[in-house]
Amino acid sequence: MAEYDVIVIGGGPGGYVCAIRCAQLGLKTAVVEGRETLGGTCLNVGCIPSKALLHASHQLHEVHENFEKMGIMGAKPKVDWQKMLAYKDDVIGQNTKGIEFLFKKNKVTWIKGWGSVPEAGKVAVGDDLHSAKAIVLATGSEPSSLPGVEIDEKQIVTSTGALALGKVPKSMVVIGAGVIGLEMGSVYARLGTEVTVVEYLDTITPTMDAEVSRGFQRILGKQGMTFVLGAAVQGVSKTKTKCNVSYKLKKDDSAQEISAEIVLVATGRKPYTDGLGLSALGVEMEERGQIKTDGQFATNIQGLYAIGDAITGPMLAHKAEDEGMAVAEIIAGKHGHVNYNVIPSVIYTAPEVAAVGATEEDLKKEGRAYKVGKFSFMGNGRAKAVFQADGFVKILADKETDRILGAHIIGPAAGDLIHEICVAMEFGASAEDLALTCHAHPTFSEAVREAALACGDGAIHA
Ligand SMILES: Cc1cc2nc3c(=O)[nH]c(=O)nc-3n(C[C@H](O)[C@H](O)[C@H](O)COP(=O)(O)OP(=O)(O)OC[C@H]3O[C@@H](n4cnc5c(N)ncnc54)[C@H](O)[C@@H]3O)c2cc1C
Repeated sequence: MAEYDVIVIGGGPGGYVCAIRCAQLGLKTAVVEGRETLGGTCLNVGCIPSKALLHASHQLHEVHENFEKMGIMGAKPKVDWQKMLAYKDDVIGQNTKGIEFLFKKNKVTWIKGWGSVPEAGKVAVGDDLHSAKAIVLATGSEPSSLPGVEIDEKQIVTSTGALALGKVPKSMVVIGAGVIGLEMGSVYARLGTEVTVVEYLDTITPTMDAEVSRGFQRILGKQGMTFVLGAAVQGVSKTKTKCNVSYKLKKDDSAQEISAEIVLVATGRKPYTDGLGLSALGVEMEERGQIKTDGQFATNIQGLYAIGDAITGPMLAHKAEDEGMAVAEIIAGKHGHVNYNVIPSVIYTAPEVAAVGATEEDLKKEGRAYKVGKFSFMGNGRAKAVFQADGFVKILADKETDRILGAHIIGPAAGDLIHEICVAMEFGASAEDLALTCHAHPTFSEAVREAALACGDGAIHA
């Protein structure tokens, strides 16, 4: 029986980051991972492969839409789908091997196999039993489906199947207008697939600032995606060549049907805790299946912690990573902390969409007096030069104190721009602090400064 200070179950962004930090803090650490490769959902079937395909399909879009405008002429390239998938797989391989390298470098042991916790302080993997002073559950999540919809990962797929389709389909119905559905829908729309998004609610990306969400839908519509909103999917049937999605429109209860070669079910994800033996151990769970933890990531069992998608909070890789670092610090007797008010969220379409902090709707609900500083990328020279002037930066600040309460960006590199505002928020900055900071010209970042100026006496280039 091997003995460790810490055993982490799950080698995704929550688990592997936690393990590396534990090792850096001098703790003897092992990670149990059942997949063939490290990196979890994120590196294998999530963030990284989806961004590879978003990048490749965006390049195709640039060739077709913008090259001629810049005087770059010639035959238009076509897609070799198998090569594009091989590129995506290569990106996955480089990243997952990178984690293996980091484990070796930091002396973290990878115990290959599926783990369970038969009793407090013990982890079983196959026939082996290991002991640890602390155990961290970082087992992540899996796609969830709808009643009446049977996933086969060939014609009726989750994001996992959508990342490895046999060919680029002629048509696709995406059920669910959340981040994953819109990103994968964008990939295929750019590759020439006719994409229809069917969503139960009356808006896309419902947790987003409503103005951004409306603007985003308009832009995706211009790019060729069709939206059916307020539609309750009743079921999906299939023949050899097509799938039929039946749904009811909420406004008049009318029954409708739409067919497509592929149906992507993107209705969210649920925590994955199968096979851990948590109920026998008496671990308390939340109503929606997450592992219950206190503010310090501790479960009700002594020495057993949980982080990432398996607990409550946004299902994001960077949230899992931050929790991984925080719990490592706590186990090592330090003060780990995650500021849940400043967790950015990003949609990696073109243009990108990014947000942090409160939306206008949140502030109205709270009854908080606020001001809005907004700046369109139409006034940003760099964005115009690269055909990406669609979108805007919107900063929300307290009406009295000018403290930044939230920011919402739709536009080029929004996923990078948002971090300037995250840092400002961590430091309790005012919009004026951003407005007084010199920003290099010509950059997309100037739009952030202009939005901050618009919270005060006004933007210059508006
Ligand atoms: C298509 C897609 C795109 C996404 N894009 C983004 C994005 O752009 N940005 C972002 O922030 N998030 C994104 N996400 C979400 C992100 O992937 C997750 O939030 C993140 O991976 C959660 O990390 P985790 O460590 O909690 O769990 P996971 O990454 O799910 O890792 C858990 C690991 O635990 C292993 N495991 C489970 N049970 C056991 C067991 N009993 N024994 C051994 N091993 C076990 C699993 O095999 C898995 O490898 C995306 C997700 C998907 C599906």
